[in-house]
Amino acid sequence: MIKTPHKVDLPLPKRGVSDPDALAAEIMDKLTYSIGKDAKVATPHDWLTATILVVRDRIIDTWMESTRNTYMNNGKRVYYLSLEFLIGRLLRDAMSNLGLIDDMRQALQSLSVEFDVIAGLEPDAALGNGGLGRLAACFMESMATVNIPAYGYGIRYVHGLFRQQMADGWQVELPESWLAHGNPWEFERRESSYEVGFGGTVETVDGPDGEPRYVWKQGERVIATAYDTPAVGWRGERVNTLRLWSAQPIDPILLDAFNAGDHIGALRESNKAESLTRVLYPADATPAGQELRLRQEFFFCSASLQDIVRRHLQQGNTLAQLPDKVAIQLNDTHPAVSVAELMRLLVDVHGVAFDEAWEITRHTFSYTNHTLLPEALESWPVPLFERLLPRHMQLVYAINAKILLDARKNRGFNDHEIRQISLIDESGDRRLRMGNLAFIGSHSINGVSALHTELMKETVFADLHKLYPTRINNKTNGITPRRWLMQCNPDLTDLITEAIGPDFLDDATKLKGLDAFADDASFQQKFAAVKFANKQKLASLVASRMGIKIDPQAMFDIQIKRIHEYKRQLLNIIETVALFDQIRSHPERDWVPRVKLFAGKAAPSYHNAKLIIKLANDVARVINTDPSVRGLLKVVFIPNYNVSLAEVMVPAADLSEQISTAGMEASGTGNMKFALNGALTIGTLDGANVEMRDHVGEENIVIFGMTADEVGRVRAEGHDPRAAIDASRELQQALSSIASGVFSPDDRDRYADLMQGIYQHDWFMVAADFDAYAKAQRDVDDIWNDKSAWYSKTIRNTARMGWFSSDRTIRQYNADIWRA
Ligand SMILES: *Cc1c(COP(=O)(O)O)cnc(C)c1O
Repeated sequence: MIKTPHKVDLPLPKRGVSDPDALAAEIMDKLTYSIGKDAKVATPHDWLTATILVVRDRIIDTWMESTRNTYMNNGKRVYYLSLEFLIGRLLRDAMSNLGLIDDMRQALQSLSVEFDVIAGLEPDAALGNGGLGRLAACFMESMATVNIPAYGYGIRYVHGLFRQQMADGWQVELPESWLAHGNPWEFERRESSYEVGFGGTVETVDGPDGEPRYVWKQGERVIATAYDTPAVGWRGERVNTLRLWSAQPIDPILLDAFNAGDHIGALRESNKAESLTRVLYPADATPAGQELRLRQEFFFCSASLQDIVRRHLQQGNTLAQLPDKVAIQLNDTHPAVSVAELMRLLVDVHGVAFDEAWEITRHTFSYTNHTLLPEALESWPVPLFERLLPRHMQLVYAINAKILLDARKNRGFNDHEIRQISLIDESGDRRLRMGNLAFIGSHSINGVSALHTELMKETVFADLHKLYPTRINNKTNGITPRRWLMQCNPDLTDLITEAIGPDFLDDATKLKGLDAFADDASFQQKFAAVKFANKQKLASLVASRMGIKIDPQAMFDIQIKRIHEYKRQLLNIIETVALFDQIRSHPERDWVPRVKLFAGKAAPSYHNAKLIIKLANDVARVINTDPSVRGLLKVVFIPNYNVSLAEVMVPAADLSEQISTAGMEASGTGNMKFALNGALTIGTLDGANVEMRDHVGEENIVIFGMTADEVGRVRAEGHDPRAAIDASRELQQALSSIASGVFSPDDRDRYADLMQGIYQHDWFMVAADFDAYAKAQRDVDDIWNDKSAWYSKTIRNTARMGWFSSDRTIRQYNADIWRA
């Protein structure tokens, strides 16, 4: 990235020409001079790299222009700090946003290279676990699209989320090496390096004004080096930067140790530094709680803040102006230590008075909360935090003293309330609450759906909300329609364009125009044909990857997301078993043929989630080999869920399963992808499902089960699942067949404990919601049997989901929080 503006506009050749011949010539040029191969010996990977380099060249001009303009305007920049970016592949995304797909396809064809083949070789950048990381990726694209000068900051993990393999139906985790063939998208910025320290002691010295100054004598230091990837917006109008940090050892230490003859010691230091950014933690929604994780968090926050402050000062701004020029969004609590790090930079390094530094800090940060589960909110044992970040611990205590004094003195908070808002949890071993730190250090705290935001006010942040009643606001999540409609579903995109024209490409709310076609028989037919073709593509993926034949005429009923008890894949599997029983008991009935498709990864340490994967596979094996349900029911668990698999499965879904225990899914974004692509949703009133019902209309979504209020009440009263189980013969039969080993003849007790959880406490309300869910599934069958009703509803879903574009979400963040 340029740091100083060009004094004159250099007459660089614009690589805007995009006829297939010019593109083909450029690809050959890259192949020859950047990769050093000729066409005869080039591997498919070489062609992919050459193609990426050609596309990248086209991005660079705009990238520099965007950066230059922001520098010239000295405008406010947005910094999105996230420990995860679940990006997926970039080639199709970039080409589509630049309008290059057709010409590039032709160019490659003229070189006898098939675009889809080489595009399929690009590894998924899986630097995230699930929804939170995917949101960050959608936001990067939307911030560029709506023309906001923005940087994403994160970690360049050498190994992203593990690759999932199945061994006899069990999940096996394999390392993932997305960088194995290099990464032609990124630019290493050796000049953008910062030292990040850990440990050591804090010394007090006399400052110039006689006041004490604190000096952090760091015990160890590593270097953070920046790697930049351009993030292209729709139509390539703006290109922002995703800056990911990589850890390297500090050379002097290495040299000292080498000079002292301690080669092994030097290599150990180097290994230790590099191990910081080696691997992404694979736990979704529950904190890892390990020292390396805290090191990762501080590492990327410190490097990012040093970079942000440097850029701010280099523009000639004062530190007092920071909130006018810089908006930092914390994606969950993972970057919350930034609050203390900015305070340290301001107070210790730049000599700003504490109270002034606090005002600057608070006005600079804002925080997005992604979970309500108290056990999922990060907290660090005070002794660990103090050992690793001694100066930050002092600053946290100072901030805490200031806030608690104010709450007690000026707001009359009682002891209970003080305990709740304190940065330190004193209830057991003392812990630093990162949620409270993020909240107190921010001027805006947002939830990710309307329901989740209201629950935040009532539960985890009730007392902080009382102290700062204007800070909590809602920003319902969104998805980028470029990746999640135009790129993953080009046939539907073409069909919509044919019907209502191309305006929806620039404004997803224009999809509304499709409403007028919802009952049009000939449009329904075309819509159905597109869906069918997408289902055929998924069927051939399943056939080639798994050797299983599925019939695209059947209803494709899909649940894909991280495997979690609260997401209730178990409810879906138990209902599948019940349906299996019903079909066998009543073969005379007119059953709707269904294919139940699952995909998702479980955290390696999450026992029940891994058992649920095994159960899905055990149930699949039994059902798929039973001739009495042949042609009526099939179950498939597709391994290694990731963005690229989602891009094939989402457009092929008839039915989207969004069935979390109400009150537990903060928003969901998978729900939005499916509905946008013309699937019917079966779901609970949870997360963004509530707002989806409001937008698509309650007649166009199948809602069932307990509400968040009901779940809260039943749990408070002490839920007894027996009544629900006794009342439902279908449920009894399904539970007992699983518990007794019908699906696990090789180990009959395999699922005994899992089923006991339902019999005994049923924390996730699987038994409580079962009957409502099973009934809702039969309602879905009825709709399916009336094809014109089915397509009228699913077309209306596509028509009315435009509001869930992440462009809308980003505009709301900007209007209410960032004001860039
Ligand atoms: C969208 C997406 C998610 C989030 O899905 P939810 O259903 O909202 O949990 C997770 N992983 C991938 C790969 C995704 O594309």
